[in-house]
Amino acid sequence: MIKKSSKVRDYKELTKALPTMDFLEPESVYIHLQNGRCKTYDLHVKDGDHVTVGQVIGVRHGGFFEQPIHATVSGTVGPVTKKLHRTGRKVDCVEIRNDFKETYHESVVNRPDHVIDQLTQQEMVDILREKSLVGLGGSGFPTHIKLATKDPIHTVIINAVECEPYLSSDYRLIIEDPQRVLLGLKYILQALKAERGIIAIKSDKNPLKEVLDQVLTVKFPDLPVEVMKLGNHYPQGWEIEVFRAALGLDVPYGELPTKYGVISFNVSTTAGVHDAIKYNLPVISRYFTLTGDAIEFPQNYHVKVGTSIKQLIALSEGYKEEYDKVNVIMGGPMMGVSTVSDDVIVSKTTTSVIVLADTDYHEEPCVRCGSCVYSCPARIEPVQIMNAVKKNHKELMKQLGAYKCVECGLCAYVCTSKIHVTDYVRKAKKLVGDIR
Ligand code: SF4
Ligand code: SF4
Repeated sequence: MIKKSSKVRDYKELTKALPTMDFLEPESVYIHLQNGRCKTYDLHVKDGDHVTVGQVIGVRHGGFFEQPIHATVSGTVGPVTKKLHRTGRKVDCVEIRNDFKETYHESVVNRPDHVIDQLTQQEMVDILREKSLVGLGGSGFPTHIKLATKDPIHTVIINAVECEPYLSSDYRLIIEDPQRVLLGLKYILQALKAERGIIAIKSDKNPLKEVLDQVLTVKFPDLPVEVMKLGNHYPQGWEIEVFRAALGLDVPYGELPTKYGVISFNVSTTAGVHDAIKYNLPVISRYFTLTGDAIEFPQNYHVKVGTSIKQLIALSEGYKEEYDKVNVIMGGPMMGVSTVSDDVIVSKTTTSVIVLADTDYHEEPCVRCGSCVYSCPARIEPVQIMNAVKKNHKELMKQLGAYKCVECGLCAYVCTSKIHVTDYVRKAKKLVGDIR
């Protein structure tokens, strides 16, 4: 998470204004074989095999689902090595050395519109399962499970709020490829037979509204979609806050929004729905923000999944100076995971990497100011949960509702004493999970 003592410029503004740079021809990609939800896997290819873009090369095993693993470049399979995943853990990755021919697997096709128009919810769910689409905003939750809801849905919300500081890749994706996002939304509305779509944006994002309104008017005049401006604060992008602000709907903790006829999808995931339905294509590339005060030239990139961050840092003209240590945050600054290594790979769910120059940083004792309590959107008491963790009092952690934490990072951000309060609450969530 961001240290308050860091001199943080508004990097969202800087990267937001720049066109995204394509970097789609890395020499090698490293495909994660494990992730936060899938600990085991089977690899169907071996060192020296030739693979094509979109080919299934293995399968990850989750608790209640399987995830086919796809090649994102064509080329030769290399060895399995350990690389950092955005969860902060080192996991197995298989290298594919690019032959730069970009040969697509035969399963990748251009599905005609009249065929798409006839697809049922179940057929779309099957496509998304095969193409292994997950929540690309970072959740990693399988999209086919979400789309398979049996609850009647009246409203689909595309969450384009992107409220975390520094991040602007969803913004650029909409500005540069609005039709892809709108078609993805059209397919979701068709699958769920929903009557209304909303694209939720922050109130200060006028260019997004202009672009989307224009494309809706010219290309999709019959699509029942409106662009809605919500608040400008953090965590406005938290799904529950989006439903509250857009529809005046309070979804109680522990209940699924679908029970109330609503569902939401992230912007990149919606583009992924388009690619899967239109081209039978898995997620082979993604929009991605590389930023932070240690990087010479912060930039949004469109990269192949499996690209090395070290290579992107070099493309961004490297580090500003030779640092003894940097703070590398994978994911947004409020909810991301910190490491000191830049040996990180862009996975499907890596929205961003933020590299900050390390600064002297000392925690002070809690002064009971209550700032963490006033800021908490989950309406729990982070400081009390922290104290319960220090005493290893699991029952108290449960009573205090630690499991309701959405890991927004606000309690640590506002803490007068610079305490990593969120880390304590995360720990409590894990411990309470054992006794719920
Ligand atoms: S991270 Fe902190 S502020 Fe955010 S929901 Fe959890 S306890 Fe509340
Ligand atoms: S914000 Fe920090 S100092 Fe204030 S009560 Fe919470 S933990 Fe204590």
